[in-house]
Amino acid sequence: MTTLTAPEPATLAPMTSGEASCLYCCSHDLQPLYVGVQDRLGYVPGARTFWQCGECGSAVLVPLPTTAELPAFYPPVYSFTLELGGQSRFKRLLSRAEYHLFFRPQYTAQTRRVMRACGWTRGDGKALLDVGCGRGLRLLEFRRLGFQVHGLDVQPDVVRYLRDELDIPAECADVSTMNQIHPPGSFDLITTFFLIEHIPDVRAAIAGMFDLLRPGGWLAAAVPFIDAVQARVFGSRWINVTEAPRHLSLPTQAGMIAACRAAGFGRVVIVPDSALNCAGQVASSLVTGATLTHTYGQSRLRPLIARAIGAGVMFASVPWCLFENTVLGRMSLGIVMARKPGGG
Ligand SMILES: [Zn+2]
Repeated sequence: MTTLTAPEPATLAPMTSGEASCLYCCSHDLQPLYVGVQDRLGYVPGARTFWQCGECGSAVLVPLPTTAELPAFYPPVYSFTLELGGQSRFKRLLSRAEYHLFFRPQYTAQTRRVMRACGWTRGDGKALLDVGCGRGLRLLEFRRLGFQVHGLDVQPDVVRYLRDELDIPAECADVSTMNQIHPPGSFDLITTFFLIEHIPDVRAAIAGMFDLLRPGGWLAAAVPFIDAVQARVFGSRWINVTEAPRHLSLPTQAGMIAACRAAGFGRVVIVPDSALNCAGQVASSLVTGATLTHTYGQSRLRPLIARAIGAGVMFASVPWCLFENTVLGRMSLGIVMARKPGGG
């Protein structure tokens, strides 16, 4: 359970955002939004403050962690992979079940949404780069549709896995070095799923992706939105808030549009992520012990029970998320689709 710690008034220093600015629209007009936010995984000690931009409404951690500090914020078990079960037969079965019931349907839905937004029905050999590709589970979906897929990730073991096990070309780099690896105009589609909120220089990253696209190419960037109805309901207990300090910022739809326009993108549209994935955010915010890190990283029974309860809450939340995504247009997770001008 996330708790908010209120500093003693006598020791409370005047809060100031100093030279900090919004990572999306660059405004210096920042106000405290959530004070005393603690890591939901209990992995990184301390409490942090999200500040909100007065211009675009996006949120940013102040002080912003440095790039050198970031790797230490990630526990050994963090993202979903098919190998999560390790030595436990039961957990291997569980990770398979989660893949087929939750993760794969989500990846398929995301792939379909990206294709529809681009107006494409097949990959037809188009070049695709997934920035922050992890173990390539989404890339497999795109490859099945006929794309020439490429991966990019900061983890050397992930890059080796893509090359050796999946036969997918992959490079070990981050958003600040990817432009040294691939020449400008190399790709028709760049996808990046839930990476933007983890990086300190959002605008430089989006500009770098813009350069790597051919004229007429598309960027598909999936992010959590702080202006979601769900984010308002849960406030400082929303999973995407308590993911700090791994989450460095949380954009609004307006913030992402501003950042894409600043990079040079013309058309920008935002489509909701799958309702199942959005419902997963509700479940993780309500059942805080159901984390992947605790379920697969520990041998205790409690996280398994919490995960089962979380699954029930998730499926029950799907109708609400469909309503939030389609009727209200205030989705908790969305894919920002931005087209580079030119290319006919
Ligand atoms: Zn802003």
